[in-house]
Amino acid sequence: MDRLCKATAEDVRVYAAVTTGLVGEAAKRHRCGALATAALGRVMTGALLLAANLKNRECLTVKFQGDGPLGQIVADASADGAARGYVVHPEVELPLTNGKLSVGQGVGRGLLSVTRFTGLKEPVTGTCEIFSGEIAEDLTRYLFQSEQTPSGVGLGVLVGRSGETEASGGFIVQPLPGASEEILSRLEKTIATLRPVSSMVKDGLSASEIISEILQGFSDIHVLSETELAFRCQCSRTRTEEILSTLRDEDLEKLAEDGQAEVCCDFCGEKYHFTKEELLAIRERRSAV
Ligand SMILES: [Zn+2]
Repeated sequence: MDRLCKATAEDVRVYAAVTTGLVGEAAKRHRCGALATAALGRVMTGALLLAANLKNRECLTVKFQGDGPLGQIVADASADGAARGYVVHPEVELPLTNGKLSVGQGVGRGLLSVTRFTGLKEPVTGTCEIFSGEIAEDLTRYLFQSEQTPSGVGLGVLVGRSGETEASGGFIVQPLPGASEEILSRLEKTIATLRPVSSMVKDGLSASEIISEILQGFSDIHVLSETELAFRCQCSRTRTEEILSTLRDEDLEKLAEDGQAEVCCDFCGEKYHFTKEELLAIRERRSAV
């Protein structure tokens, strides 16, 4: 089951997540090839790990606007464990690089942005250049450059031969303010020798077991919380109607003339159908207000 676990040990904070189920669902909904599954899975997992720092009803959007063949990759995640996302060209495949999926090449170079929606004030967006397009490395740089938080980020997705999502997960490790040099170098060494997080998930490790593996050699480990994760989209027929009702009269009429309209949600691939009569009713209702 998909979960995110938060823990601290000495002066270190670690979040780990297992996301195989939700990444598999996203890949299926968007008919992703292996490359897109790996890229989108890493971005969605990264978004969930960043969102774990938010308060209950807050959420954030991670956007990779690279010039690679996959096109833009977007993921939304909330502190309560919901995530959704899409990649513009889910069908793109590239030759492997050293036996691995060429995610960096698929993403390309460009801009990475993280927008936090706190509900109280205007959303806050931080940006940085995409460094390698491998996602984890880019998020590490983003956190350091844009948010002045030194972090270690690991993200991994294993895609099977027939395209199924075999394992997906990730972690983020951050020294707390005031952590000693000794702790920093111990942490660095541990992370450098860690096996890929996707193989930990494939071996059946839970989020809290991944944390134990990361925090080997640390004492005083406290598990703070565990959250269930799921693919969840906020779209609905009502919301789609609201969007349609913002169209101009002539555009609604043009859609009605076509006999029907189909509106597809970018994030989950759900399709909403509207008949001619329904489209005209939306226009009528609006002019009645
Ligand atoms: Zn949707």
